Amino acid sequence: MTNAELNRMAEDVRDEGLNQGSSMKDLVFDPVTGDFRQVPRGSHRGDGDVVTEMTNKGFAAEHTTLEMVYLGEEDLINVRQKLLTEDKVKAFAEMIDNEVYHVHLTLKKARYSTDRIPVVFTKDERVAMSPVDEDMMCIVVRDEDADAFNLVKDQKRRRLKVDYIPSRENIFSRTKGILEVGALKNKRVLVIGLGSFGSQIAIELAKAGVGNFALMDFDRVELHNLSRHTATVRDLGRLKTNVIEEAILGKNPYASVDKFPVDINKDLELLYEEVGKADLVICATDNNTSRFNLSKALVEKEKVGIFGRAITRAEGGDVFRYRPGGPCYCCLIGEGNLQQEEITNVDSARRDGRIAAYVSPEDADAMVQVGLSSDIEPICNLMVKLSLVELSRGIESGISSLEQELVYDFYMWANRRERHYGNWKPMPEPGNLPTILRWYGVKTAKENNCPICSGHVVLDEGEDLPASSMEDISIDLS
Ligand SMILES: [Zn+2]
Repeated sequence: MTNAELNRMAEDVRDEGLNQGSSMKDLVFDPVTGDFRQVPRGSHRGDGDVVTEMTNKGFAAEHTTLEMVYLGEEDLINVRQKLLTEDKVKAFAEMIDNEVYHVHLTLKKARYSTDRIPVVFTKDERVAMSPVDEDMMCIVVRDEDADAFNLVKDQKRRRLKVDYIPSRENIFSRTKGILEVGALKNKRVLVIGLGSFGSQIAIELAKAGVGNFALMDFDRVELHNLSRHTATVRDLGRLKTNVIEEAILGKNPYASVDKFPVDINKDLELLYEEVGKADLVICATDNNTSRFNLSKALVEKEKVGIFGRAITRAEGGDVFRYRPGGPCYCCLIGEGNLQQEEITNVDSARRDGRIAAYVSPEDADAMVQVGLSSDIEPICNLMVKLSLVELSRGIESGISSLEQELVYDFYMWANRRERHYGNWKPMPEPGNLPTILRWYGVKTAKENNCPICSGHVVLDEGEDLPASSMEDISIDLS
């Protein structure tokens, strides 16, 4: 069956099936039950309810052409330059799944496959007509585009379909309208902790067009990480900074990534330096010591930070946003208050005392019960949205409207009605109690005696004195 026939068939399915007026539905919000209900299109009387149009293009059957060649636009510019003085430029194509070719000018760009065929770039169409002794690809370069041919010994040449990997300027043109092209490419985000949270968030921000990253984590990928982490079995043993750098560059080959495989609690100088350089800091570590250290750095360097975590077995979690001048992480949970945060790693929990030294290895393992990746994702997702709102502030974009909604500094989420959330109402029930699977904003205030951000020191006698001079005291109850 040809492409045209397949496309026609897909059109028929859409037109004769899904698109018929009688089968179209609207969603109508019912303020009494708090639910949406489905009604046939046109049957709604318009009594002021919210009506949402359902998508009617859900199933476009796209057909992908076999034997595609992917060519970097920037590589092509280099090749054109070289062809001004040379007849041919040699390269190679990586063959993936026996049907897709990625052309590279240097060997180190190859990633997936060891199946390679030689490539010759030329402006001379006759090269693509001449007989060959071994399989190769010939790419005929023109001013605007290029044609690729597969040349096989004693066979007719085959023309391959060419598609281009966009240049730096065009790589995110498809996100246009949501975040304007290039709006975030000069922003720098420091991600501290590349576990199940940090790894996902870094990659999401790369997809949204953030152009510069600093990654801090001294951990390596272990087997128990895999179910919740973006890393794969092939990454076992690798530093997480390297794994996530690769994932970021996989989304945006032009991003810049600085890697710091260090423990931030042991290198505060580096932490302060990197916080100072960043436009935004993601705190996705699994212990409070690093959260407090980071909180101090954010206050001192006057930078925005987004903190997130899951609590025991990811039954829920929370997200905190620090903006300079506002309440800090220490105002929120109190100094040294080790909450029941999720323990994902026995070694790190032993190190910082969340698992006491006398607990047997068996009992310690039982304490390390992790939640599902799908329990982590909603929390990561809010962290990403808060980050994008902060990064795109002052830039007119589709995400800016969220700034009116995300007015809180602290947000809570529950995945399951158990333990901490045992007395919450089941989801369908209307009433005054909170339910699971919804975000709740919490109003927080600066703590007068916060040792990090109030400018006060609390003496042993309990006497409260300003850190510097009396004039500096300001009590902020906002
Ligand atoms: Zn504070």
